[in-house]
Amino acid sequence: MLNVNELTSLAEELSKASKKGMKIGLVPTMGALHDGHMELIKQARIHAEYVIVSIFINPLQFNQADDFINYPSNLLKDSDKLKNAGVDLLFNPDLKLIYPKKPAVKIDFGNISRNLEGAFRLNHFEGVGLIVMKLFNLIKPDVAFFGLKDLQQYVLIKNLIKEFSYPIKLYGVPTVREENGLALSSRNVHLSPSGLNIASQIYKGLVWAKKNFKTFNTSEALIIQLKKFYHPQDGLTIEYCEILNSNTFKPVKSLQSGGKITLFIAAYVESVRLIDNISLQE
Ligand code: AMP
Repeated sequence: MLNVNELTSLAEELSKASKKGMKIGLVPTMGALHDGHMELIKQARIHAEYVIVSIFINPLQFNQADDFINYPSNLLKDSDKLKNAGVDLLFNPDLKLIYPKKPAVKIDFGNISRNLEGAFRLNHFEGVGLIVMKLFNLIKPDVAFFGLKDLQQYVLIKNLIKEFSYPIKLYGVPTVREENGLALSSRNVHLSPSGLNIASQIYKGLVWAKKNFKTFNTSEALIIQLKKFYHPQDGLTIEYCEILNSNTFKPVKSLQSGGKITLFIAAYVESVRLIDNISLQE
């Protein structure tokens, strides 16, 4: 595996791969790799002949300085994992390479970026938009892989690809979970064993909601019950819990209306912010 952190060698390697007619796959990450990331890489190896993983902790998508400073990082361990997974190139640029100066351009994804993560993490998606466009422009992948744990992000990237006519096929990879249901996340390393246990309630509530949603007419009624489900769990603070159409990201009022209904949640456990979602359809 090549470890590249500047643009000339990146361009050379990309040119070699495309001369060989290889399909280039990109998996963008912020490192501290876990089995969720590894599943994206596994899919990339299936759908592309030359797999690039980027590791870049993008300051522009953090709305809290502490979260950025404390974001876990372990490049040596990550690099070993990527080698073992058969990745061809690790792109690990430093901050100055990606942002030689503070970007003046802002990416606004419109209405679908206004709620959920867009509402609770100010400017988060602006930052995501910039880094993803940079990576697309520098690497020009044929296929790109994003996790459905960050469903709103996935839909925004899908729109970005369409609106900017990137010739990129996007794959959304289902969420990889611990045995107890907790969605894998780099931030989980900050949780104590008891915190991990508390955090596993998040998905248990989502599964409860999926099982029972047909007995409720409105999203409001379901959310009230779901909050009661979570209430006894000390140490779990819900930030949002909303039911939206996952194409338009508009709130869904009636649960009997059909369409792509998804329940989204963000919660804090031991000051760690965790997100998850579940489709309420069969
Ligand atoms: P991150 O390093 O957290 O920015 O995530 C990089 C990519 O991995 C994003 O596309 C995430 O949606 C995806 N991802 C993160 N956690 C998981 C998971 N548990 N299962 C599947 N994909 C994930």
